[in-house]
Amino acid sequence: MIRHWCDAMGDHNPVYTDPEFAAKSTHGEVVAPPAMLNAWLMPGLAGHRGSPDNPISALLQKLDAGGFTSVVATDSEHEYLRYLRIGDHLVSEQHVEDISAEKQTALGLGHFFTTLTSYRTEDGEEVGRMRFRMLKFRPGTGRMASAADGGAGAPEPRPPRPRPGISHDTRFFWDGLGEHELRIQRCEECAALHHPPMVRCPGCGSYSLGYTVASGRGRIYSFVEPVHPKVQSFDYPLVVGLIELEEGTRLLANVADVDPELVSIGMPVECVFRETDPELTLPFFRPIRPARREDTLLVGDVAPGELLDPCPVDITPTQIVAGAIASRDYQDVHHDRDLALKRGSPDIFMNILTTGGLCARYVTDWAGPEAQLRSLRIRLGAPNYPGDVMTLTGRVERCEPDGTLELALRGANRLGDHAVGRVELSLPLRTNR
Ligand code: ZN
Repeated sequence: MIRHWCDAMGDHNPVYTDPEFAAKSTHGEVVAPPAMLNAWLMPGLAGHRGSPDNPISALLQKLDAGGFTSVVATDSEHEYLRYLRIGDHLVSEQHVEDISAEKQTALGLGHFFTTLTSYRTEDGEEVGRMRFRMLKFRPGTGRMASAADGGAGAPEPRPPRPRPGISHDTRFFWDGLGEHELRIQRCEECAALHHPPMVRCPGCGSYSLGYTVASGRGRIYSFVEPVHPKVQSFDYPLVVGLIELEEGTRLLANVADVDPELVSIGMPVECVFRETDPELTLPFFRPIRPARREDTLLVGDVAPGELLDPCPVDITPTQIVAGAIASRDYQDVHHDRDLALKRGSPDIFMNILTTGGLCARYVTDWAGPEAQLRSLRIRLGAPNYPGDVMTLTGRVERCEPDGTLELALRGANRLGDHAVGRVELSLPLRTNR
């Protein structure tokens, strides 16, 4: 279960999977990723429809019977009292805290309800708590339904991007993009690289020109954000960057998947290829996923106001399904596109547990393997549908002398904020080393 979760979340923190590392850590042994707290008691494939003995399943069935057959999670608050260890056996106690009156939401007409679950070991020790808020709604009664029918909410078709001027000397570059290769012209005589491509090597004068395939990694050398007038074929906000590639040449391209306010000169970026229309593939550059910290930050290493480097996450069907199954969440909207459509959703979408797992990974990748999560609170907004990118960003809000940190998190996709949240974690004290 732990390895399956870490694999799906791309979480390589060795305290979860490496017994030797874990033995020398503050934990003394392998521990479970705290964000998978509720995965342990999910009913699984056979039991996901619930039993009438369980008050929450009974409530869900009552709402189903009233026509509120679709469900989305809106808020999740986890508190981690201690990390779980191999051999722990959990039991849970669930309470329904509140049920709202019927409300009109963007998804449809429905009822919000909140549950509180307390997780204990068999000998009664409370190890975690979860407050969970969900919306049960009637499919086809929201704004998204009218958009799908081609109603007022449907986006207008827009003109394609302007075509590049392609000549005999530049064709290799554009052909390369179609094959997801970023090609740089190279002189066959003196090996000098040039971009944009030239007719003749400016160094040695040779006409013998080939190309090399760039790694796609580079840094932002300079950038500008055109604001006005808006051109219909571009996505806004629009950032145009001069990217200095590892190989040394520079090229102009759009910087994507990051709030323009977080773009900075020197920012490490990587190339992603995108079909902007069926006949044109262009290179975009986005922040590189921050490297996982191998040591752990200590008290005093961090100050309020510090920003975490942005981290884009590709939202693919595989990522959504892998996260749902690793969290033992068999709600059809997270793995079955046909049933998701039937329930009024344009596609499958990421479950809240995966969002939580990705947020937890982001924070501990930044703080280091021995930083301990104390709580994780997430509010969901725009869903993560396949084909989108969610970019995680974070800011240190509070630092206590005892090593407690509070961070504000945000996961934004092309529709808006997918998730906003708060996480509390503890750093080891300096005297421990
Ligand atoms: Zn040359």
